[in-house]
Amino acid sequence: MRAELFEYIDAHREQYLAELFPLLRQPSISATGQGMQACAELLASTMQDAGLSARILPTAGHPVVLGDTGNPDAPFTLLIYGHYDVQPPEPLEKWLTPPFEPAIRDGRIYGRGTADNKGQFFTHLKAIEAVRQLTGGMPVRVKLLIEGEEEIGSAHLSDFVKAHRDLLRADLALGVDGNIHPSGRPEIALGMKGMLYVEMVARGPRADLHCGKDPLVTNPAWRLVWALSTLRGTDQRILIDGFYERVVPPTREEAALIDRVPVDMDSLFETFGVDAFLGGITGTEALKRLVFEPTCSIDGLSAGYAGPGMKTIIPATATAKVCLRLVPRQTSDEMLAKLRAHLDRRGFQDIALTTIGTFEPSRSVVEPRLMERIVRAVASVYGQDPLIFPLFSTGGSGPDFVFTRDLGIPSVWIPCAQFKHKNIHAPNENLTVEGFLNGVKTTAALILGIAERGPAGSPR
Ligand SMILES: [Zn+2]
Repeated sequence: MRAELFEYIDAHREQYLAELFPLLRQPSISATGQGMQACAELLASTMQDAGLSARILPTAGHPVVLGDTGNPDAPFTLLIYGHYDVQPPEPLEKWLTPPFEPAIRDGRIYGRGTADNKGQFFTHLKAIEAVRQLTGGMPVRVKLLIEGEEEIGSAHLSDFVKAHRDLLRADLALGVDGNIHPSGRPEIALGMKGMLYVEMVARGPRADLHCGKDPLVTNPAWRLVWALSTLRGTDQRILIDGFYERVVPPTREEAALIDRVPVDMDSLFETFGVDAFLGGITGTEALKRLVFEPTCSIDGLSAGYAGPGMKTIIPATATAKVCLRLVPRQTSDEMLAKLRAHLDRRGFQDIALTTIGTFEPSRSVVEPRLMERIVRAVASVYGQDPLIFPLFSTGGSGPDFVFTRDLGIPSVWIPCAQFKHKNIHAPNENLTVEGFLNGVKTTAALILGIAERGPAGSPR
């Protein structure tokens, strides 16, 4: 059945691309709100065309679009996550063809949203259609949760999920924003780091002041630099009081998963644009740090004058953007409280902390028989076994916790877009036609694979 299904999908390539284009033509920029409602409506009708029921549900921000294959007697329910919002297309002059006029060149679909994330979620609709056409039914129930705020931090997703637990009830969540390893092997990720992104602001005189007044006036740039320097040692250890309290080392199984990943140092250095890693670490040890270590990074720093020549001032304010990446068991609330207490204890009560964005960490444990079926389905498309990562291989974060924590179900992330040159968040965003078709095949193979030999695990 799988071979027939893949043939069917390949044979419908032109039709699928033609049907994807209207979604790509519809701007949906969550940062400005442009086209969001229209895109939600278009998505709902696209879902209906693919044979799903669809509803547009409000949040405190942009709406969520929910699709459902609506076969409640299925032994297993898959909840697939995606987002219909896209990044702003600027700078427009850098696009070879306009961002909202999709075009195919050299086997790639170009346009804003192709690889992040319209191309991906559209593959699920076509997979559902293909399975129905070929088998005459749906062996599992599929629900699609397509949000409109991923590119602005998914701020209302957790509240939405908590308010609609019954509608979203499922056995497994699936995200298709995962990665292809540089070796070409697909990756399956079972979790993500969390994140606490804060702004730290120190204040000095009410306005910039002549720096000759330095003996008498607080300089906020110094206050901020002193405060920041207490957060991390020159040995790279994070010094926020209690930061590592809840961090546990990777289990033997987790470490073993990383041991199996091939590491090509040259390619890693090239991708990162560096000549060496901190402390000179290499190989699997480097990969383990990337995947398992919590972080504290200064992402931005500004104060006073930094233009050409000189301007002799004590700045009125100094600002730092600090990003903490959190590992399972740490939480953003806990970290914010720890950071505040750490600063206060050292006399930095004057430094204001504002939370800009948060994600909670997540980590799924998938029942082994189900995991095996997922692995086989992904391998059947790519012709090679996937690499399995306990947490995202990129060290990144995302809203995975809304499934693991808020819905209490395991979640897996699989790839669709190619590894290189997809230009997401940049001009000339693109998805290879091959990656797009692999996406349709992967979801179709999963729908069939999960249903093989009856239910995997007991449905909740
Ligand atoms: Zn994005």
